[in-house]
Order: sequence, then C-alpha cells, then structure tokens
Amino acid sequence: MIANSNVNYEHEDVLAALAANTPFDDIFYEDSSDEYIKAIGLASRSVVSFLHNNKKPFSGVSPAQLRPQFESIDLNEPLPDYETVISEVEQLYTKHAIAFHHPKYVAHLNCPVVIPAIAAEVMISAINSSLDTWDQSAGGTLIEQKLINWTTSAIGFGSQADGIFTSGGSQSNLMGLLLARDHFSIAHLGHNIKENGLPAEASRFRIFVSEAGHFSIQKNAAILGLGEKSVISIRTDRSFRMNTVLLEDAIRREIELGNIPIAVVATAGTTDFGNIDPMTEIGNLAAKYKLWFHVDAAYGCGLLLSDKHGHLLRGIELANSVTTDYHKAFFQPVSSSAFLVNDKRYFGLITHYADYLNPKSQDDIPNQVNKSIQTTRRFDALKLWFTLRIMGREKLGTYIDKVIETAAQVAVILDEHPDFDLLNHSDLSALVFRYNPFLIKPVSATKMNQFIKAKMLQQGDALVAGTKVNGAFYLKFTLLNPLTTTTHIKNILLTIKKHGNDYIENN
Ligand SMILES: *Cc1c(COP(=O)(O)O)cnc(C)c1O
Repeated sequence: MIANSNVNYEHEDVLAALAANTPFDDIFYEDSSDEYIKAIGLASRSVVSFLHNNKKPFSGVSPAQLRPQFESIDLNEPLPDYETVISEVEQLYTKHAIAFHHPKYVAHLNCPVVIPAIAAEVMISAINSSLDTWDQSAGGTLIEQKLINWTTSAIGFGSQADGIFTSGGSQSNLMGLLLARDHFSIAHLGHNIKENGLPAEASRFRIFVSEAGHFSIQKNAAILGLGEKSVISIRTDRSFRMNTVLLEDAIRREIELGNIPIAVVATAGTTDFGNIDPMTEIGNLAAKYKLWFHVDAAYGCGLLLSDKHGHLLRGIELANSVTTDYHKAFFQPVSSSAFLVNDKRYFGLITHYADYLNPKSQDDIPNQVNKSIQTTRRFDALKLWFTLRIMGREKLGTYIDKVIETAAQVAVILDEHPDFDLLNHSDLSALVFRYNPFLIKPVSATKMNQFIKAKMLQQGDALVAGTKVNGAFYLKFTLLNPLTTTTHIKNILLTIKKHGNDYIENN
C-alpha cells in the first residue's frame, strides 16, 4: 500500500499515508474535513433548489407513478459522486416532497421550521452525541437538562420537576401512561409492575380521555397491556372540549362496575380542533379520585411561548405529567419533543441499571437513560437551544400569536360564508369545515368533500386535511405557518368551491 520509498515510518505518518490510500476517506474525521464541507455544501444547495423550485406544496405524484423509478435501482452499485446521488434523490424525493413551508400547506400538524434549528441539525448529526449517558454526551446532557428545566418552569411546575426529550408526542404519551400505571400499582396495590409484570387487577384499570383526544392514548394502553378497552372516551361539549360532568359520571360508573380508574388525560390542543380541555376542573377531579393527571400538550405547548394567549394553559401546572411536541408548535424539525413530570422521583419507576452503561454506583452522574425508554438517543435538544439563543422566546411567541390570529380571521370568513359550514372556533389554529352550498338536487356533502380533498392532493396547489365528525366527512385547516395569510386562505376556498361545483355538476 505504501508505495513511496521516502516514507517516514513515524507512527502518525504511517497512519496518514494509510488513510490517504485506503477507502476510509468517507469517515468523518479531521483529515476528511474538505470532503465534509463539499458534501454539506452540495446537500444544502439542493435544499435551496427545493425552496426555489417547488412552487406548490405538492407535485401531486401518485405511488403508481413514482414506484417504477425505484425498480431499476441496485443499492449494491454506488453512484460516482455526490452530484449524481443528489440528482437521483431529487428525482425520487425532493421534487415531490411535501413543502411544509409553503403558505398553502395547511393540512396536518407540520410546522415550517426555523433556520437556527436547521443549523443545529448539522452539528447534531456530525458530532453525533448520544444522550443516554454522560460519558457519551457530556455538555449535551446539561444543555438538554437546562431546556427541560426551562420548559417545566414555563409550565409552572416546582423545583422537583424533571423531564426528558423523546421522539415525539406518541412516545411522551406512552411514558405518561406507563408512569401512571406503575405508580398506581405500587401506591395502591403494593405491586411493582417493573419487577413482576401486570397484577391481576390490571385488566380493570381505566384511563379517561376525551373523544377528541389523540389515538396514541388507545394505542399506548394496548402496548402497556391494559387493552384499548381500558380507555374510556368522554364526550366533548359543543366546543369540542371534554365535558367534565360526563367525566365524573364515567369515573363513578367505572368504580360501580368494579373497575379501577388510574388516570385521566386532558388534551391541551386537540389534533382536529385545537381546543383545550378544561384543565383546572379535570385536575381537581383527578385529585378527588386520586388519579394520575396527564396533559397531552403536543399541539398546545406552543402557548408556552405566548404572553398573549399563554393563559389558555391555566391548570396545566396541576398535571403529574405533560407531553410537549416542539416539532408541532415550536417550529422545530422532526424530531423534537419532551415528556415532563412534576416530581422527578416518578422516573425511578422505569430506571434500569445496566452494569455496562449506567451502574447504580454512578447514580450521582447525570445519565439521562435513567429517565428514558430509549437508549441511544439523538441530541435533539440542541435545535431548541439554537432557536431560543438566536430568536428568543418572545420572537418565537409572535409566530404562534400570528397563526392563532390568522385562524380567528379565517373562522370569521368561514362563518360569514353561506356555502361553508364551520364546526369549531379554535383555541389554537385548527378549523374543521365543509363545503355545503344550498342545493335543489340532493348531493352527499360527505362524498363531495372527500372528492374535493382527493382532487386537491392530486393537483397539489394547496393541501388541506380531512377528518370525520359524527360520521360525516369534513375538511380541516391546520394553520401553523405565520406566512399564511387570509388571502392565501381565500384563494384555497376558491379552489375548494371549484372542485365542489365540478362534483355537483357531474353527480
Ligand atoms: C401529534 C399529536 C400527538 C402525537 O405526536 P407525535 O409527535 O406525532 O408522535 C399526540 N397528541 C396530540 C394531541 C397530537 O396532536
């Protein structure tokens, strides 16, 4: 390998010579920094073309159109250079990627992302710390911890609070129910689930959540061995907030039936309507019946940034645990989420000491794995750090205020328009509505609105979501982009009318 006879056989030089001639030059290390800068430069140029070339939220491509392009690709045969790979990926992906930053993307809970967070991503994946233990992250652990403390103090938790970054709201909700289950079992049955598995009584455990709560509650109950049937769905009131009279009725009824209420979940910002359950009342009921109180603020956590609307979260401080999704409402790239508790001792319920990783003898060292259900874990916290340190809470808060304001204006537009039914006024920024003009001939509003949604996805000029309420299909705007104006929305409403009228004509 070392052809040069003048080579100096000093150890370091041998290594350098080896490196220059061996195929290890793709490893990220000090001598590959030129390659690194080139690759990142090309990738970020491709991202800029994505911004400039994708003029609508979606190309409208179908799986049937895209799939054949994958057939001829042999993953065992690499391409010659970054330019070729990037152009391949542009054809297969970037050209058709859904553009969440586009002002006419108003479908799901995907926010546009802020640049400081993207810059942090560059550092996160290159330096590649793993936040499970101090000896794999060092300062990263303290950055995460400081952001957790910032969040718990914004929630209004006391000095015993703690938390952990997670992969998303579903995982945070899982941790909430896991701690609820295990805490209840130890406190009230003297049974340690972590050690002994589920007690016989577990089949009678009951969890309460509103019918507008997130489906991960049911899914997580299933994962936790309690079954989906352990989740009691509570009807909402006319504003799609949990009806607390019905909540108390349901708790009492379950007790009478011989079942065992263990937890209640309030949703601070429902996925469909963006409405916030009455958290103070729910918290008080939780205390009265000695239930774990979990708040799913995956969407509503954005209000922690807002001086204007922050009061809507009143009562969240009564929770035992809270879910926050920074990738829903803090303009962070996926993934960035946290799970917070009002008392750090709860995490002891899930701590497992492994001799190779976090031995019990090291309990004074901040090993975040003690609080997590993941082991290797991304340093997602750095994105929020960059964001808060560059933009600050106040500026980020004005973005949230703006989307709430736009949603309120859009609600007025829909309310006043005779051809649209609006179902809700949102605490946040999600509006459920349908096109339903007065017609002489009978047309199914559900079928027409399903047609409208499908047409919009096909054309890609604007994307809206859809949902079912009481068996009928509705369209949904989720407004998370401060760049979206009422003019954009009026434009989208024209598109909706056009597709709707086409449907009416042909049916
Ligand atoms: C999106 C959402 C979740 C799930 O969060 P992921 O980050 O997608 O796992 C949970 N609860 C609510 C209310 C949500 O809107």
